[in-house]
Amino acid sequence: METHKGDYQNNEGGSASNLVNRQTNADDTVINVNGIKIGGEELVIIAGPCAVENREQLLETAKAVCSGGANILRGGAYKPRTSPYSFQGLGEEGLKYLSQARKETGLPIVTEVMDTRQMELVCKYADIIQIGSRSMHNFPLLKEAGKCGKPVLFKRGLMATIDEYLSAAEYILSGGNQEVILCERGIRTFENYTRNTLDLSAVPILKRQTHLPVIVDPSHATGHRWLVPVMAKAAIIVGADGIMVEVHNNPLEALSDGQQSLFPEDFGKLMKELEIIAEVTGRKVYRRNPSMA
Ligand code: PEP
Ligand code: MN
Repeated sequence: METHKGDYQNNEGGSASNLVNRQTNADDTVINVNGIKIGGEELVIIAGPCAVENREQLLETAKAVCSGGANILRGGAYKPRTSPYSFQGLGEEGLKYLSQARKETGLPIVTEVMDTRQMELVCKYADIIQIGSRSMHNFPLLKEAGKCGKPVLFKRGLMATIDEYLSAAEYILSGGNQEVILCERGIRTFENYTRNTLDLSAVPILKRQTHLPVIVDPSHATGHRWLVPVMAKAAIIVGADGIMVEVHNNPLEALSDGQQSLFPEDFGKLMKELEIIAEVTGRKVYRRNPSMA
């Protein structure tokens, strides 16, 4: 592949030998989670609440996103909140509700791990572990994720360049775990209309530079419910392998990120629109069960 200024080289002296690079591994990495292939031809949709708040909220939301066509359920049991006085998540109780939701819907679950000390417990419950933006530079956690034996949904840091992001992903791969899903979730800029600025061009750049699946989180990227569907569609147009979107059974009462969470009806509508957009790009939205359509 022809290289350009800005192509990922690892500024500290590494180069094409980095495991994340396409030069090292030309074939797309496809991650199989209970039969759902992330990074393959079909688009994977991850949906669910920001945080697991209680059993009823999670199960209701899980059922709603499942019938809307989601493939994977998200929900945080350990929440990285800006203020220590905000809801911090239910911890293991939340993980138990997630596994109940998986049992009732059949959807695999992705949930965040914030600390090396939580890794074993989170891995006991999760199908995919999430490493959030704020933890992108937590190198001990990345090393632990390299050994955890589960796929990792690895979000770009709030202030990280693409090079820094890929260098951080390299920690997970070099630790022995190739199953890394990259996630563009917006970066901090001077613009403050939106919560973050969705760096859409990061998607084709990451796809070009690496062999890893790339998804987009338009919820944290925008911070506004009304902007989520349009940016989700844009993400598919620029080549994302899927999206992760926050949905809540009652966003107006949510304990975190209600203002960016879709109502279940919005999500159902978005799924239908994504199917049309996917077709335009020569892809399809993954259907867990084609008869569900
Ligand atoms: C999340 O997805 O739950 C989350 C906290 O997002 P981010 O790490 O991108 O802020
Ligand atoms: Mn959130």
